[in-house]
Amino acid sequence: MSREATSTTGRRVGILALQGDYEAHARALCDLGARAIFVRRPEQLQEIDSLILPGGESTTMVKLIDAYEFEQPLREFHRRRRPIFGTCAGLILLASEITDHPEQMCLGCFDAGVARNAYGRQIESFETRLEAPLLGDKPLPAVFIRAPRIVRAGAGVEVLARLNGNSVLVRQENVLAASFHPELTADRRVHRLFLEMNSPDTAHRAG
Ligand code: GLN
Repeated sequence: MSREATSTTGRRVGILALQGDYEAHARALCDLGARAIFVRRPEQLQEIDSLILPGGESTTMVKLIDAYEFEQPLREFHRRRRPIFGTCAGLILLASEITDHPEQMCLGCFDAGVARNAYGRQIESFETRLEAPLLGDKPLPAVFIRAPRIVRAGAGVEVLARLNGNSVLVRQENVLAASFHPELTADRRVHRLFLEMNSPDTAHRAG
């Protein structure tokens, strides 16, 4: 087993499990030896090291976040600098502005404006391969399903992959966000990157 695989073992990673494809994320985490915890109550945020906001339907998630009183606890989780990873609808929730739906609640965890369902009707869903140099030379398979587009990103946002010039995988401090669904392919490099953001080993190496 590689050192990277060992370093992710036992991480307690919460997955917000109110709606969406949270089970696919659990499988990805399980493959990497992390403990996936489905988060359905705000108190559970105290028991986890990091959090994934899955894909799904952001309007429905916002309603459930409101109904289960998750908004302030999620903001607090981010303030405590715990790593958070959002895919697709999860990326929308983490953004600082939803340009085509300015009334929709978002958490402002990374400095970006996003537009929902922005890749056009003919190609609402598609699979492609991305260059993501941080993850190695091998192209990264990526599934886009009614994906959001990052239309503006602040100076602090690091772009890890682009599609036709658009940022589709980004990181700002402890926040990782993907327009696509890495959990729906067998390639685990994006989840591994997220787990390493959570790893004391990584913090030690960086410090
Ligand atoms: N289009 C959805 C939204 O606006 C996101 C789609 C997805 O998560 N696959 O929330």
